[in-house]
Amino acid sequence: MIEKVVSEFISSNVFVVFDGDYCFIVDAGAKKEEVEKVIAGKKVEGILLTHGHYDHCLRVLEYAKSFGAKVYASEFIKEYLGDGEKNYSEGKFSIQDFSNFNFLSGEGKLKLPHFEIAFKQLGGHSKSDMLYCHGDDIFVGDVVIGRDMGRIDLYGSDKAEMEKSLAYLKALNYLTMHSGHGEDNDKKTQDKVVSLWLRFLTR
Ligand SMILES: [Zn+2]
Repeated sequence: MIEKVVSEFISSNVFVVFDGDYCFIVDAGAKKEEVEKVIAGKKVEGILLTHGHYDHCLRVLEYAKSFGAKVYASEFIKEYLGDGEKNYSEGKFSIQDFSNFNFLSGEGKLKLPHFEIAFKQLGGHSKSDMLYCHGDDIFVGDVVIGRDMGRIDLYGSDKAEMEKSLAYLKALNYLTMHSGHGEDNDKKTQDKVVSLWLRFLTR
């Protein structure tokens, strides 16, 4: 079961993925109290970040402390979280203490006590884009936002990397794509979206 909590600003999504009495969290933009209500006392085994923009990470240390869980993210997220300009918080948010973090690089499997999550470094929207796959669900952050391609005009954005990311998502098998903002969509819908944006990028 997956529950979604939407943050009160720029509507960034937080997902809580459950298996019985255990769960993990994807992104940390929404108020801790709202997420806590959804978790309802279940054990949090990890907090996964899709990329380093502040609207997805703002409350990560609060979550880590309150839920007693480690944070997992791309090795390239440090540069974003450590710099309030690069994470687009206009200097209001930065992290200097990364003792709760475990950094991921390339691709592999993240093994939590009750979950196995495949991860893969993407790119295009930011240098810190990380894809997470759990069962039939994938979490793409802002690489794809609902039925739109993510922005590629930001610090660390890269058009060629976005092309590679979209081509990878098109070839990937999944049932539901969960974006960093907006609605969830099935693969059939997203293949059309991804194909359209690939044509746009390569024209
Ligand atoms: Zn973003």
